[in-house]
Amino acid sequence: MSPTLLVIALFVFGTIIGSFLNVCIVRMPQQSSIVFPGSHCPNCNYQIRFYDNIPLVSYIMLGGRCRSCKTPISMRYFVVELLMGLLVAALFFYFGFSLVFILCVVFTAALVVITFIDLQHQIIPDRISLPGIPLGFLCSFVLPWNSWLDSLLGILVGGGVLYAFALGYYLLTKKEGMGGGDIKMLAMIGAFLGWKGALATLILAAIAGSLIGVMLIVLKGKDFKYAVPFGPFLAAGAFSALLYGERLITWYCSISAR
Ligand SMILES: [Zn+2]
Repeated sequence: MSPTLLVIALFVFGTIIGSFLNVCIVRMPQQSSIVFPGSHCPNCNYQIRFYDNIPLVSYIMLGGRCRSCKTPISMRYFVVELLMGLLVAALFFYFGFSLVFILCVVFTAALVVITFIDLQHQIIPDRISLPGIPLGFLCSFVLPWNSWLDSLLGILVGGGVLYAFALGYYLLTKKEGMGGGDIKMLAMIGAFLGWKGALATLILAAIAGSLIGVMLIVLKGKDFKYAVPFGPFLAAGAFSALLYGERLITWYCSISAR
């Protein structure tokens, strides 16, 4: 198969995963099964047929509306499918066809689901982050950047650093700042990326989060505490660390050693 065709095939594969992730994003916060029943329109209960469920294409063909009652369908369906297609193609560029690639796709899928649930509900589901911790640890026996010890330290550093921040913030202000969900999520990221990756993730997320947080406060006059959920930044930081972590750390060590 030609390389171009292969990348297109993987992009399409990614959009199909994205389509499944959309179901998880809707159903996980409701604590309902992600397999049964089939998808229905929340407005008219029309059962969504397989030909209405083709990633990206159906959304465009239907003009972003339910086939039966014409209620607008959330843009999120389209965005998640497109995003997952692009991310899977990017992962393939970096890792080629390998077990590492497959594990990274699963990890990325977890990050995407967490991102969109956190954006909408300001929660990070334990159903993903908690099993993600032992799974990430198991992956360390396969992943080239992670030893089991790095992974274990990653869980402790990832969970511990944020826990210390949250505790310090609470002691200083008597208000809860960082949620427990963020702590468990960074522990999961630490399990998968190792302790260096967890730190790189946290630094990237903090920089991006403060920039965008300040922008929102200035532009929209939002209260700082409610300005931004942190999960999406941790997710973006973790994905960047996954692709560029080694280089970032090498670069950082080279400038700090001067
Ligand atoms: Zn409908």
